[in-house]
Order: sequence, then C-alpha cells, then structure tokens
Amino acid sequence: MIILDWGEYNKNMNIAEKFIRDENLTKEEFVELLQLAEADDDIRSRLTEEAVRLRRKYYGIDVYTRGLIEFTNYCRNDCYYCGIRKSNQNVKRYRLTKEEILACCESGYELGFRTFVLQGGEDLYFTDERMAGIVRSIRAGYPDCAITLSIGERSYESYRRLREAGADRYLLRHETANEELYCSLHPREMEFARRRQCLYYLKELGYQVGAGFMVGAPGQSQQDLAEDLVFLKELNPHMVGIGPFIPHHDTRYASEPAGSIERTVLLLSIVRILLPKVLLPATTALGTLDTSGREKGLAAGANVVMPNLSPVKIRRQYELYDNKICTEEEAAECRADLAVRVEKTGYRLVDGRGDAAL
Ligand code: SAH
Repeated sequence: MIILDWGEYNKNMNIAEKFIRDENLTKEEFVELLQLAEADDDIRSRLTEEAVRLRRKYYGIDVYTRGLIEFTNYCRNDCYYCGIRKSNQNVKRYRLTKEEILACCESGYELGFRTFVLQGGEDLYFTDERMAGIVRSIRAGYPDCAITLSIGERSYESYRRLREAGADRYLLRHETANEELYCSLHPREMEFARRRQCLYYLKELGYQVGAGFMVGAPGQSQQDLAEDLVFLKELNPHMVGIGPFIPHHDTRYASEPAGSIERTVLLLSIVRILLPKVLLPATTALGTLDTSGREKGLAAGANVVMPNLSPVKIRRQYELYDNKICTEEEAAECRADLAVRVEKTGYRLVDGRGDAAL
C-alpha cells in the first residue's frame, strides 16, 4: 500500500496498536487488520515484533518438541483436502501395533522427547478399549511424559475414558470457523457443530486442547480467517496448529494453489498476540512448502516443533498432502537436523514435557 499521508499511516497503525493493546477485535476489525498487514510492511513488522516479544516473555528462547507417531492411516472420514481420506483407493493402509507404538516411544524417549503425539485417521479398529490400553501402557512406561492424542471426533464418553487412561492433551483442529466453508471442504456427514462440540468436551474433561486451521484452504477468504481468530479467542485453547494448505494429487483439490507462507507466518504472529501463552507449532506443512518455513514460523512467534517418530517404513503412507518432508530420515536425524535449524534462528530445542506457561 502507498501511504498517502501521515494521518492515514496513523489510522492504519491504530488497528494494529489496538489489537496489541487489548487483543479483542471484532470480526470486521480482524478483516481490516489482515488487509492492512498484508498490504503494509510496517504493520507486519510491528505485529512480528510484538509476537516475538511475547514469545520471549513467556518461553524465553526455548523451543518445545513433540514426537509425532502416525499410528494409522485408516480413516472413516472423507475430508476433501486430505490424502488419506477414506475414498482414496490409492493409499496403502497400515496400522501400527501397540508394540510398534511403544517402540517409537522408547526411541523417542532416548532422543529426549517427553511428549508423544499419537495421530491418526479416524480408525474404528481403535475402539475405546484398545486406545485406552495403548494410553495406559505409555503412561505406565513413561510417567514423566505427556501423552497427546489426535484421533478426531469421538464421543464425550470416549474422550472421558481416554483421559482417565492417562491422556493429557488432545489436538483437534477446528479446520475453519465458518460453517459454509466447513461444509464445502467436508462431506455432509461431517457436522460443523459436532467438531466444535468435541473441542468443548475436551476442555471440560481437563485436556490441554489444541485447535487450528489451514491457511489457504480452497475457497477460504480473509473473512473466514477473521472468524477463525474470533473463535480461537472464545475457545482459548492451549495450542493452535496452523499450517498452509498443500494440495494432494489424489484429491479434488489436486491443482489448487497451496496456501501462502507469508500469510501463514502472519497468522502465527497474530495468534501469538491473540493468545500470548499459547503453544504454537512451526508445522511440518510450513516446512514442506518452504525449506526454511519452520525457521520463519519460529521467527514469527512459534515455539514448538513436531518431528516424526513414526517408523520410516510407513512414513510415506501417512501422506496428508504431497511432498511431505522427513519421510526418509530416522527420528534421530530429524531431531538433530531440527536442533541445528532451531539454533540458527537464535532459539534452542529443549527436552521436557513443554507444558503451556501458566
Ligand atoms: N484425524 C485427525 C488427524 C487429522 S490430520 C483429526 O481429524 O484431527 C491433521 C491435520 O492435517 C488436519 O486437521 C488438517 O488440518 C491437516 N491437513 C489435512 N490435509 C491437509 C492438506 N492437504 N494440506 C495441509 N494440511 C492438511
């Protein structure tokens, strides 16, 4: 944007300053903030600066790690953007056994991981009983570790049983806070209201909850992103996962453009200001789209990385989108590589559970 006069410059800065002062903006104000920030380098820098200040205030230079275990790619859902959706016949399906999952934890523990994230498609094989058995075994073997689940929508009772078995955290991206966009990205059986309900159930049960969304999902507008921000402020989750949409060749969105790195990074800074103590990962999708994407994420206010602990032999099969990184390296290499990358940005990778700041 060309700044025409000093008055206009101040007016533009005002919305950013208002946001920095009191965090609460209306949907319309968030739209204005996004528009101005995307058009004006000074506003963007001001937001990044504030995001980094807050990140340092609450987390210093520490970057937390989570070991991601992608334990099943079977899924009963058909999210139109996702490579492992059920109607994709070209995916070779797999599930890890409890022993294989525990072996991932063991090697992860040796590498310094103190959080294990069990992520998968919505696989009906993993009943509450089976899932609770896995959680209990991890809890017994690794009492000093946090157990995070990311296995989609389940009933209140199911979430309750898994919590009781020892799960501490749950990641369930809301995907989008706009109902119309949600309906365009998912088949009719997937209800917008149910996903949000799940997030509130999880909070009620005392999980540390992670919500989140893709940036640049097909059909997404700045208004939709503004709604995501309003929703996040209301939900007040402990974690927010934000990554760019990346097309997968076997989906209807195969030739859609990927989300923008700049926009993703801007949203990371905005979310850091919106929820100052939030745990904010520099996601794998960000690292996939841009070789220094995760570094850019860290420089914008992110404070978490989630290297892959899944066995290398199945990594390629958990293909949510094309060209996903780290499908070849062993966990140790991934972690070592990340440690170097993190240090280059002036931060340091730390062991430990990495709970949210109080
Ligand atoms: N079944 C679990 C885990 C889903 S995979 C659940 O429902 O929560 C984790 C996240 O990957 C999704 O929530 C989605 O936001 C993201 N994802 C899926 N397909 C993607 C794509 N094509 N590009 C970028 N991110 C994608």
